[in-house]
Amino acid sequence: MEYKNYLNETIMNVKPSGIRRFFDIVSEMDDVISLSIGEPDFKTPWHVRKAGIDSLENGKTWYSPNRGFKNLCQEISAFVDRKYSLTYDPESEVLVSVGGSEALDIAIRCIVNPGDEVLMHQPSFVCYEPLTMMCGATPVVIDTKEENSFRLTAQELESAITPKSKLLILSYPNNPTGAILRKEDLEALAEVVIRHDLIVISDEIYSELTYSGKHVSIATIPGMRERTVVINGFSKAFAMTGWRLGYAMGPKEIIAMMTKLHQYCIMSAPTVAQYAAIEALKNGDKDIEKMRNEYDMRRRLVVGTFNAMGLECFEPNGAFYCFPCIKSTGLTSEEFCTKLLSSKKVAIVPGNAFGDCGEGFVRVSYSYSLKHLKVALSRIKEFLEEL
Ligand code: PMP
Repeated sequence: MEYKNYLNETIMNVKPSGIRRFFDIVSEMDDVISLSIGEPDFKTPWHVRKAGIDSLENGKTWYSPNRGFKNLCQEISAFVDRKYSLTYDPESEVLVSVGGSEALDIAIRCIVNPGDEVLMHQPSFVCYEPLTMMCGATPVVIDTKEENSFRLTAQELESAITPKSKLLILSYPNNPTGAILRKEDLEALAEVVIRHDLIVISDEIYSELTYSGKHVSIATIPGMRERTVVINGFSKAFAMTGWRLGYAMGPKEIIAMMTKLHQYCIMSAPTVAQYAAIEALKNGDKDIEKMRNEYDMRRRLVVGTFNAMGLECFEPNGAFYCFPCIKSTGLTSEEFCTKLLSSKKVAIVPGNAFGDCGEGFVRVSYSYSLKHLKVALSRIKEFLEEL
């Protein structure tokens, strides 16, 4: 059977993720020490796991309402108000999803039509471009620059806008660079967004992992709430990647559309995960703080070590990645990572997996124990000395 004649052309033409390609090589090798994974190394806090276990023991094994349990939506609404001064009506402006991933997918699908242009900055998380293409819309990539601390500037945004532009996908704290946006940056971007009548999807999944100052959501900038869908979730803040739970918040008209799509493709997010999430939001502040302090300590170690090795490293203020520049070695990002892997058995991700402008950089995750980080860093140092 000639399967390509039967399969969807748009999906066939989407490139597989560069991260996955690299992981496939790593999974074939023994004894590799990895700094490549984008998930917390912590276990979900015990009281949160226990809430999930209790729900199962009590036989809470049914579907939840499509939008998620009412009390979970209320807790989400209270949490984002308390943390970021975001005010969303739990009855109509919050949707519980299967990870931030599903929320991103259905938000994009509910907003764009074929032919629309979707503005997105890179280096960035890998799903925005393929999800846009799968809607028949056109990704318009804006390269952010190290000299601007990888922040999307209002000028860069303005110069990428055309009459077909409809949506901007904003992703800060950023994976892979660790960059964050300050209130002034968001205000400047908001002015352009409002003047050009764009909508924004703001992926704020790393909002709790901000190391200097507090996270600011673009939806709190005057005039932006009505034109923003905020995406967040439990994976990073509460070390809950495997529970698969996230949420979207926005104007009720958009959330209603997203709920319709969610109902047809998902039904409802996992019930057990929702019980655990209620506990996380109610009693998890101390866990977040503990993990954030630990990441912060690792961040300082890793960034300091890269700079001392001569690989200039922009200071990340969010998420749990750093993005050192490897141009001084004369190697491409792929060559650097492949050689490091084969000679020292250390896995990191080539920067160009996050967009062409990531060439010349590598992504190093510091969501690993200090001991693990120290071994990996000393192997990288040896590698550089032998180059
Ligand atoms: N957004 C960003 C920027 C991410 O890095 C990730 C996961 N690596 C996600 C969204 C998706 O997270 P999840 O589906 O686990 O909530």
